[in-house]
This record gives sequence, C-alpha cells and structure tokens, in this order.
Amino acid sequence: MSRPQYAYFDDPLKLEFDAQIIETRDLGEGRWGIILDQTYFYPTGGGQAHDTGLLGETRVLDVWRDGTTSQVVHVVGSELAPGRIHAEINPERRQRHMQHHTAQHLLSACFAALYGLETLSSSIHGDTPSTIDLPDTPLTLEQLTAVENLAHEKIFANLGVKTYFVEQDQRQSVPFRRPPKVDGEVRVVEIAGFDYSACGATHCLSTGMIGMLKIVKTERQNQKNRVHFVAGIQGLAYFQAVQGVVDNLTEQSSAHFAELPEFFARQADTLKSTQKELADLKTVMLSIEAERLLRSAQLRDGLRWVIASFDDRPASDLQILAKTLRVELGVVSVLVTYPGEKLAMLVACADDVKTVHAGDLLKEFLQPVGGRGGGSAQMAQGGGVVSPGQYQALKEMMLNYS
Ligand SMILES: [Zn+2]
Repeated sequence: MSRPQYAYFDDPLKLEFDAQIIETRDLGEGRWGIILDQTYFYPTGGGQAHDTGLLGETRVLDVWRDGTTSQVVHVVGSELAPGRIHAEINPERRQRHMQHHTAQHLLSACFAALYGLETLSSSIHGDTPSTIDLPDTPLTLEQLTAVENLAHEKIFANLGVKTYFVEQDQRQSVPFRRPPKVDGEVRVVEIAGFDYSACGATHCLSTGMIGMLKIVKTERQNQKNRVHFVAGIQGLAYFQAVQGVVDNLTEQSSAHFAELPEFFARQADTLKSTQKELADLKTVMLSIEAERLLRSAQLRDGLRWVIASFDDRPASDLQILAKTLRVELGVVSVLVTYPGEKLAMLVACADDVKTVHAGDLLKEFLQPVGGRGGGSAQMAQGGGVVSPGQYQALKEMMLNYS
C-alpha cells in the first residue's frame, strides 16, 4: 500500500488552494463530510487539533481522517454540490499549531539532550499552554531555565526544519530521539542535526518561526512530570497578560517589579501583626464589657442574672463574654445575637450555680421561636434561622425573665 499523500506534508504554509469535490457524505444531524481530490487541511491526529477554514463560503467545522480509506473528511454544516471549489485555511489557528508542535519537538529534544529525559506523550494546543509528559523526576528551576536557554539557542540560530520519508529498512540511518511506533515508511521531522522525530503534523520551516518558547508550569500528574509551555503567538499573548498584571501590582504598590515579592511579604507581616493587635484589643474591650454587664446584673434567687441581646454581634464575641462572666460567683448569663437571619444564643452558669441548668434554660428560650441547641449544666449554645418577628418575641421573653 502506498503512503497517503497529504498536501500539507509538502507545504504547511499553503493556506489557499482550489480543489475538486469528489464526494459528499451525509453524516446526519445536519452535517456533511466533503472529500476533495487534494487538501492542505490538517485532520486531527498526532496530538494536534484539526484546521478550520472555508470551502467556498461554507465553514469547515471539523477535519478528520477516514480510518478505512485514509481520506481527509472536511465536515461542513450544509451540503455542497460536486465541482471545483476554492478553499481557505484559518491562518492564525494553523500558525499557532505549527509553532507549538515545532516547539514541542525542540523542548523534548532539549530535555533529552541535557537530562536524558524521554518525552512520554504530548498534547498540542493553540490557545492554551501545550504539555509534554516526562518521567516522574523532580526538576529544579535552574534545570528548567537551562532547557529554555538551550531551546532559545536553537531558535535564535534559526535552524531549518526538514521533513522527509524513510523506508523501514532505512530507519537505522536516522538517529531518532524515540523509535517510531508504526511499521513501514515513516515521515521524519528533522530540526537540522539536533532532533529527529517521526511525526505527521504541520511544523514551522525553521526554528526562528517558533518565535519564543517558555515553560509556564510543571506538575506531577499520574506518576509523570507534566511540563506546560507556551510558544509563538500564544507566548506573546501570555507575556502581554503577565505584564498587565505586573503593571497593575507595581502601580498599586509603587514598588519596582523585582521588589514585589518582598513588598507582599512585608504586607503579609503587617497584616498578621495588625490582626494580633486587634485581637488583643478586642479581648480588653470584651472584658470591660463583661464588667459593665455584671454591674447591671439582676439579683434573684441568690443568683446574678445577666440577660442581654445584641442585634448584630459575631457569636465569637458572645462566647468570650460568656466565658468571662462565668468565672464570677453566682452568675447566670443569657446572651443572644441576631446578625440577620441566623440567631445565636449562649447560656453560661458559674460553677457554684446548682439551681439552674444551662442546657435546659437554653431550650426554654429557643424552643418557642423554633431554635435548637443544647449543652451541659454549665455551658450551652444554640440558635437557628429565625424571622425578625421571632427574634423580637425572644427578646421580650428575655426581658420578662429578668
Ligand atoms: Zn510534530
């Protein structure tokens, strides 16, 4: 069987051509598959997505290779009559894929050359970072930088990228980075003297066309080390976005960009010490408040009753108040807050109080308004979602109790 002849093999820069529609297949659901006598459209495969573009005025939605006939099927949303047609490939999408695919070969070659790391799989994306998976070996920032530097030596040298076919029995003449997985004739993509890979996708004609290559993230994924990278058009857009964020931060902080990490570390320290100061002040403030509440306590049955409602206080304040109050002899405190929707109530009895059970008293207040909760004889808490009317009713109950 002779190898399939795809025109994009020979000229990946040809983005407009005329062809003959030789077959139209009804794919169902309003989609048709168009077969041309020759095509420069790339069909999905080899980790790279298909081209898009136009057949005449009709949008090409998908392109795939028929597994049986090896024909390229151009999927469109309307039926096209047989005959001659002008075809156009979306240039930017093609360019993004070419740049990333060539960058992938180069990056994989650099990891292999510097650290002997084989690329286990790759995924090419035009609009989001592409990835290669390496063996699960931790890599330092210095190692990643060395890989990027070597890749850029090759980009700046503008090495030619050649493609050619070799027969099965000629394979040993090509120093493949990875032995081809298929039998028979294979297509070689060679980055002049530096890398030899078997690949059927679209590539730049020289490394300079990659423009730039930057690793943006590494992560452990299924016992592999996944390296995310950007290149070419996507690389430029990535750096423009990063620059925008950096400009915004330097403007907000009046710091030089190199000083941003130090600036934010200082801000975090300041925030931490301010929060500590605030917490200390709050403790002082709450102990003063507890004293004031104690002074206004109602004396009944030999106990000191502190019954108070707060319309909008965090429940944590009430907990500190209740704990502070229950160290005083004979004190029973009933505290409630309603910051909106959710009510919180605390009942606390001093250790010497034997005639009141905190848990029971809490239920006595909460049950009529639909709240829930409980606790020990000394300390109980509860609450629930209640209406402003129910909160008002609870406040009146508390008022009548004291
Ligand atoms: Zn490739």
